Amino acid sequence: MLLDVDALCVRYPTRRGTLTAVDHVSLDVARGETVGLVGESGCGKSSLGRALVRLVDADSGAVRLDGTDIVPLEGRRLLPWRKRMQMVFQDPLSALDPRKSVRKTLSLPLELHQMGNRAERRERIDALLEQVGLAPQLADRLPHELSGGQRQRANIARALSIDPDILICDEPVSALDVSLQAQVLNLLGDLQRQRGMAYLFISHDLAAVGYLADRIAVMYLGRIVEVLPRGELWRHAAHPYTRLLLDSIPSRATRSITTASTTVAELPSPYDLPRGCRFRTRCPHAMPECAATDPAAVTLSAGHTVACHLYREGVPARTVALDFSDRVRPSHTHSIERIEEQPN
Ligand code: SF4
Repeated sequence: MLLDVDALCVRYPTRRGTLTAVDHVSLDVARGETVGLVGESGCGKSSLGRALVRLVDADSGAVRLDGTDIVPLEGRRLLPWRKRMQMVFQDPLSALDPRKSVRKTLSLPLELHQMGNRAERRERIDALLEQVGLAPQLADRLPHELSGGQRQRANIARALSIDPDILICDEPVSALDVSLQAQVLNLLGDLQRQRGMAYLFISHDLAAVGYLADRIAVMYLGRIVEVLPRGELWRHAAHPYTRLLLDSIPSRATRSITTASTTVAELPSPYDLPRGCRFRTRCPHAMPECAATDPAAVTLSAGHTVACHLYREGVPARTVALDFSDRVRPSHTHSIERIEEQPN
């Protein structure tokens, strides 16, 4: 396994007490695979992404890259592993140094990792810019002289410059308008096919994750509550929270949001988590057992795990009859191979 996250915890000391943003999360990503990590804002998914690339420190647990736990590594011992895992941030403007040209920004990681001489680095940057669809003359511009789409392409080129094995993409299209979102998602798909990279694609948008991901992990208040193959998402998503997210995707046909089977309520405070299952205050299927015991993850079928008392180990989700709306993949979703791009 390329990336193996094991019982990772991230806690932040705050004035109100300790906030547990990531609570014993385990997740893996194979070489060349795309795993989508989805959940509402504040669920801890960005903290998880930042802990993976060591922008924040984990309190406990392991992040293994090709079997080596990088959590305890520091300084020079960490450097070769940093090279293998890069991050694409949500806001390309804040991710790029406003005082440095695109060429200088792309050159810095190459210099840090001692990749090539000056001429070779220049050649490599020109090739990278071409690969992400940026004209070479834009290399000498500052970030504020680029459009939003160009900035995100430069941000992706920066992450690719040192040939990582895996990209952690944290909401990479949510700051872009709709036409640019499709272009950047298609670019990420094309780059993956060309380079064989793996992606952990973090998003609040289940529809966007469904475009790119081979598997989808659903996160709620610091925990992974369901992991399932993309092909199972629309018909066999099991966890009531995953169903809520699916029902919240607007249908193009009706321009409406279906909420028939879900209880819409505020996200509980992370400082005052419900006892037992954390989702029980919003769950239409909550039972007394849900308040008493935190559900452990069970495997329903190959690649499909869920943490919910409604399910039993080895019993596929489709055999459990619940009053979920029988929602099928809506007509506005697109093939994983190519997303229809709209004119600017
Ligand atoms: Fe709902 Fe209970 Fe399942 Fe939690 S464990 S999601 S409250 S049914």
